[in-house]
Amino acid sequence: MVRRRRLTEQKTLKDLKGYAIVGNHSAVKTCLWLKKSLKDEGFCYKQKFYGIKSHRCLQLTPALKCNLSCIHCWRPLDLLPDIKEWDEPELIVEESIKAQRRLLSGFFGTKGVNRKKLDEAMQPNQVAISLIGEPTLYPKIAELVEEFNRRQMTTFLVTNGTNPKAIEEAEPYQLYISLTAYDEESHRALNRPKGNLWENILNSLKLMAEKKTRTVLRLTLMKNLNMRPEKFALLIERAMPRFVEAKAYMHLGYSRYRLEREAMPSHEEVRKFSEELERLTDYRITDESPISRVVLLERA
Ligand code: SF4
Repeated sequence: MVRRRRLTEQKTLKDLKGYAIVGNHSAVKTCLWLKKSLKDEGFCYKQKFYGIKSHRCLQLTPALKCNLSCIHCWRPLDLLPDIKEWDEPELIVEESIKAQRRLLSGFFGTKGVNRKKLDEAMQPNQVAISLIGEPTLYPKIAELVEEFNRRQMTTFLVTNGTNPKAIEEAEPYQLYISLTAYDEESHRALNRPKGNLWENILNSLKLMAEKKTRTVLRLTLMKNLNMRPEKFALLIERAMPRFVEAKAYMHLGYSRYRLEREAMPSHEEVRKFSEELERLTDYRITDESPISRVVLLERA
């Protein structure tokens, strides 16, 4: 199922289509679902599950680098291996909102755009810190989240869990740990870490159980590689998140250099996996989005 085809040339920042680079090491990109929502052509599953507004969502990263190189990742990896100087949170927030408005300016005058929504989009009220790279590599991630919270924006922080200190300190509206591995061996094979970060991930899961904020364990599922509900059930019990998202790996972007299309489970297979989780844990299926091949489970 895993392809051994190497990506020939190393990608650089300028190769990032549609990204607005912010400061020394951050970036903003208008999400596909924001664009669809502006044209009343649908919205993302997080709007369906959690009520955020896709058209008012600012998608960003404060760290154009990662400490993992996951085989399922559809993003170009390691664009800024050496970040010399870290920017202040206020600057990242200010400049990211300005960058979003610049990216949206192209929609004025575009046929089929809902003008009322576009005006609202110019005032983003939701931020998804999940664009590319590992956001907790930014040393002031807790302060950055706090800066957005202070502006009454709902903050979704999506991390790979390799930085327990950030899990402890950051207080986003919704905290995600995104997993593909379920033990040390699968961590090495699927996350291809720089060094072994499995202990860190286990510590982060433990810390997640103590968080007061809303917590989500997202499981990205690849056929014949990690669809082991009995293994993930143990990690769910460890982290006790409020929500579990069982989501199909999507055969997109750079992941196609590493994985065959067959590695992408159907929604029915994700549903079956989730029903198995229901049997093995105190979590119950409460929603799903077939178009995004994701099932939501909530702690009973
Ligand atoms: S929450 Fe994620 S998928 Fe939804 S609009 Fe924001 S970036 Fe896009």
